[in-house]
Amino acid sequence: DVLNFGQMLAAHARLSPERIGARDLEREMSFALWNARACRLANALLGLGLVKGDRVAVLAYNCIEWVEIYAATAKAGLVAVPINFRLTGREVRFIAENADVAALIVQDALVGVVEEVRADLPIGDDRIIHFGSRPAPAGFRDYEALLAAASAREPGQVVLEHDPWTLMYTSGTTGNPKGAIRSHRGSALLALTTEIELGIHRKDGALLVMPMCHANSLYFFGAFAYCGGTINIYSRANFDPEHCVRTLAESGASFTSLVPTHYVLMLGLSGAERARYDLGSVTKLMVSSAPARPDTKRAVMEMFPNSGLFELYGATETGWVTFLHPHEQFSKLGSVGRECIGSAPIRLLDEDGNEVPDGSVGELFSRTPYTFDGYWRLPEKTREAFRGDYCSVGDMARRDADGYIHLVDRKSNMIISGGENVYPSEVEQVLAAHPQVRDVAVIGVPDGKWGERVHAVIVTENGTSLSEAALAEWVKDGLAGYKRPRSFDFVRHEDIPRNATGKILYRELKTRFAREKV
Ligand code: ATP
Repeated sequence: DVLNFGQMLAAHARLSPERIGARDLEREMSFALWNARACRLANALLGLGLVKGDRVAVLAYNCIEWVEIYAATAKAGLVAVPINFRLTGREVRFIAENADVAALIVQDALVGVVEEVRADLPIGDDRIIHFGSRPAPAGFRDYEALLAAASAREPGQVVLEHDPWTLMYTSGTTGNPKGAIRSHRGSALLALTTEIELGIHRKDGALLVMPMCHANSLYFFGAFAYCGGTINIYSRANFDPEHCVRTLAESGASFTSLVPTHYVLMLGLSGAERARYDLGSVTKLMVSSAPARPDTKRAVMEMFPNSGLFELYGATETGWVTFLHPHEQFSKLGSVGRECIGSAPIRLLDEDGNEVPDGSVGELFSRTPYTFDGYWRLPEKTREAFRGDYCSVGDMARRDADGYIHLVDRKSNMIISGGENVYPSEVEQVLAAHPQVRDVAVIGVPDGKWGERVHAVIVTENGTSLSEAALAEWVKDGLAGYKRPRSFDFVRHEDIPRNATGKILYRELKTRFAREKV
């Protein structure tokens, strides 16, 4: 079944056994070795008594084992549950219990997190598997020992295209993490779409910088691995711009995908630091996950003159929804592009489910061939996400006269002030353009008169002082009265809570700053 990644890997191993399939900072793996190790792991997991459909959680920093585990679960018909390495023991337990996982594979550096909640985990000792440079601690099974003892033959499991392969937990910026299920078929079609949109083939290589537990890295891993490109894994927990540039140059990767914050940090490197590395092999760059400022995009295009800059809009649940191609960057800099190949036209709907006219804001519904198969054991949430075959993750957007989509904000961030809708991102953009504003986040706070009022949390450039009056004056030109902030907080950069992909955590921001004015 060509839609199963495990089968696809077996084909690459047959066709080009010696070619490098994946590497990290420590190890390089040919397609033949990758396939053999994935078979061993698949057989080992089945040997521990796991059966088709069982969930296998993975808790690890970026490393080569991820690609073995993804391939092994595909071959065995098991469901991979990637867990973010930044989570606490309590959060890991939530996911392990929620997904009712049958096994957990953990990297040695993260054993402490598992130890914290081990007694409460719904998994027997024999199915908590450890890998890393140190030997497995007492009570953990050893990954390498399991592989060594298992057969390298294909497990011969019958896995069908609609069977689930991954259960990805959303990062939870809008509520409790929800598990999004995606089948082998959905994953393969997402990979195919990405390959066509990016124009990649087996000679390409991806540098995966974002955590491999995130949809962004998983989906690009899929795209490059299905077509036989090389997966280069950036093995650092925290983003280091110089290390990123160096790894890009040394790995010879032609592609990487980063969030806007990463690009901003790379742009901060000095001319001398940049000049040290030859980035000529990089031909395609992706920016996504959070709003990218046009000036950042322009500077990235200057920094990588050989490379085309793509932007996409998508989510864990929907996969990619739109793509903006390099040749469109100048004419449509502020847009996230148009529907991906093979998708139905995006629908922008009002509260009553009617399509809004071009130029007006509506909730974005997409229908792609790889939309997720629902939230794990949350039928009500799944129903809420769909209107027929169309899926929404709660983003508001408008379409321009040329058919390009412009994201406005998340529905849940919308502020209703005096009955008018205000989108924080619009207010943030105007404030961010002030030369003394380094960072800004806008929220709605309870207000006796207006229901909610617009409140801005500001970080000034180098801690300079800036008056509320000056900002109130600044927004007068760009914002209608009801959109203008009525109050301000001046904070340090680290006081604006963000997740790993650089998204502002609005719920947390509200609990910190939303005080009623008396
Ligand atoms: P949760 O769904 O739990 O709130 P999350 O927001 O981090 O978590 P993801 O699936 O990781 O969920 O991210 C998808 C969201 O990222 C989209 O719904 C959208 O709001 C935002 N996003 C994605 N691409 C872009 C982009 N190019 N520009 C601006 N925002 C984007």
